[in-house]
Amino acid sequence: MTKTAYYPPEYRKKEFNCAHCKVFAHQTWISNLCGELVNVMTLNLPYNPSEELLPSDLFAASKCTHCNKWSIWIEESLVYPAQITVEDPNDDMPDEVKKLYRESAQVLSISPRAAAALLRLGLQIFLGAVGGDGKNINDDIKKIVALGVEPETQRALDILRVFGNSGAHPGEIKLDEDPDLVHKMYGLMNYVTDRLITQENQINELFEGLPEGIKDQIESRDSKNKNKEKLQ
Ligand SMILES: [Zn+2]
Repeated sequence: MTKTAYYPPEYRKKEFNCAHCKVFAHQTWISNLCGELVNVMTLNLPYNPSEELLPSDLFAASKCTHCNKWSIWIEESLVYPAQITVEDPNDDMPDEVKKLYRESAQVLSISPRAAAALLRLGLQIFLGAVGGDGKNINDDIKKIVALGVEPETQRALDILRVFGNSGAHPGEIKLDEDPDLVHKMYGLMNYVTDRLITQENQINELFEGLPEGIKDQIESRDSKNKNKEKLQ
């Protein structure tokens, strides 16, 4: 898959990747009107265009020329739609895990701790799908390591475990102070999915494609080895 450049939404920028449709598109901006509307609606004040009760930059809206949808900005920050700026989940990720991954990404900009806790639940279910019980993350990693995984995969699983824990319990790692760290966890979730699901599927598929005669030879070779082991 080729990756194209991603330009996240930025206040007052004329073009960026829209938070709704994700397409790189031209954006039209309004601010005064939005501020006036809020004055009228929230403060129950009569509409008076000459009187500026709120700074004009407090509320702004940008409209995407591709999907025609509005994004809402308060004090120069995008508040709607909630930004998902993380990479897409690996296709081979179990559906339930994918759902938690996306949910986590949606709350990332509001609460990195909540995002980490959701990702932790995703990791727990993921481990259940690749050889664990799906109950205790630590025990499951131990089990999967015993089945034989590369050291990098083990490390990635442990990093995810530790960060997920600090999302769920007060710990030494202050996730709210470093959303970038949480951001990196999505990449790790895709990495472990690739290592423990995608690559295994691909190898099994290639193996299944071998001619029957050769597969039989391999099978009889391995059963001979097993018999030898028994005799020794
Ligand atoms: Zn759009």
